[in-house]
Amino acid sequence: MRPFEAVQMYFHRAADELELADNVRTLLIRARREVQVQIPVEMDSGELHSFIGYRVQHNRARGPMKGGLRYHPEVDLDEVRSLASLMTWKTAVVDVPYGGAKGGVAVAVHKLSQRELERITRKFVDEIHDIIGPDTDIPAPDMGTDHRVMAWIMNQYNKYHGFNPGVVTGKPVEYYGIPGREEATGRGVGILTLKLLGRLGRKPAGTRVAIQGFGNVGTHTAKYLHEADCKIVAVSDAKCGYYRADGLDIPKALRHTLEHDRSICGYQDADQITNAELLALDVDVLIPAAIGGVITAENAPRVKAPIIVEGANAPVHPDADDILDKAGIIVLPDILANAGGVTVSYFEWAQNRQFYNWSLNRVRQELEKTLTNAFEVVWEMSKERDVSLRTAAFMLGIDRVARAATLGGIS
Ligand code: NAD
Repeated sequence: MRPFEAVQMYFHRAADELELADNVRTLLIRARREVQVQIPVEMDSGELHSFIGYRVQHNRARGPMKGGLRYHPEVDLDEVRSLASLMTWKTAVVDVPYGGAKGGVAVAVHKLSQRELERITRKFVDEIHDIIGPDTDIPAPDMGTDHRVMAWIMNQYNKYHGFNPGVVTGKPVEYYGIPGREEATGRGVGILTLKLLGRLGRKPAGTRVAIQGFGNVGTHTAKYLHEADCKIVAVSDAKCGYYRADGLDIPKALRHTLEHDRSICGYQDADQITNAELLALDVDVLIPAAIGGVITAENAPRVKAPIIVEGANAPVHPDADDILDKAGIIVLPDILANAGGVTVSYFEWAQNRQFYNWSLNRVRQELEKTLTNAFEVVWEMSKERDVSLRTAAFMLGIDRVARAATLGGIS
């Protein structure tokens, strides 16, 4: 099953509960615009190389479209389309005034020099600058992109359109960014994990957590939960994984990644485990925070954690979701769990438009408030309608988008 088909399955489950008419479903499911561009770039060797870039603008009923930019060798149109539609429901769930979009370039970032990365980014902006903008579509970081890439995007866009810091979010703090954006997604995953534990009558202290993916989202989630007295017993990245029953030394693990080109490989004082073993660990909370589709119908029966918090986008396949649901495993879905990033992106965009700087304290407080409100509405809806948290979150998002689309009219 392709990623977009998987998102559609979740969409239809919620749409059935909402008794949404077929014509409204069609309107909401299809992307508004899908763009594919060629990015010819001269590499450091002097050789010419052509990359493919995508931007899918899914829906703008609730505001300018918003979504990350992914640089990964497996990026393709179907994946970007699925992630763009998730953004539409995500921005609606946390009630920020945006629609949904997503972009990507099929490229292995670790094989590029910094100059090559910059040239690819600027060339990509050359191709899409007329369809993005602070009032139309605002990119942000995702897998393989970071604050440096966002700075190049703003700088290149400004060459065409003049000073417009709000064209992109996730920029460096020194270059029109906002404090707290880099940590926001992981911090949000941590905040919501504690909310969920609280609702389930569990205490954070001693809660055993396993985290797959030790990049932006995974590291900040680990830091937040470690500081909240949870025991992070396992972490992994694409190449290595480590387990320690008493809990890993998270400050040491974070230092290790800083000193080893963002990799956890070579971390000491823990047993090595594979990613497959990590997903099947006997822990209280499992947090997939790497790539999509890692929990499948094949490995779902081996999941022992009673709680899964989706740090990554679409880490659970719909067939696996059914298996987890029947086993009584509670899944906090991506469109709520990892919405901290887009929430603080909204604060950054608002700051850019007001020319007024927000403090880190204010960002953190507003982030917690926004996520808590969304969590409480989703939790209540799931109880009231007797549906999973995922279906409840999709219902909330779809209902808000459908109302805006209908109220705004389509003529
Ligand atoms: P990142 O590039 O900073 O880190 C990704 C991590 O996953 C790295 O540790 C990498 O080694 C690991 N990884 C890659 N392939 C893997 C594999 N096959 N198995 C195990 N680990 C693997 O990316 P990120 O920004 O942390 O994003 C991670 C996930 O969170 C993605 O699904 C992304 O869409 C989602 N997300 C990110 C943000 C954000 O603000 N960065 C916001 C919302 C959702």
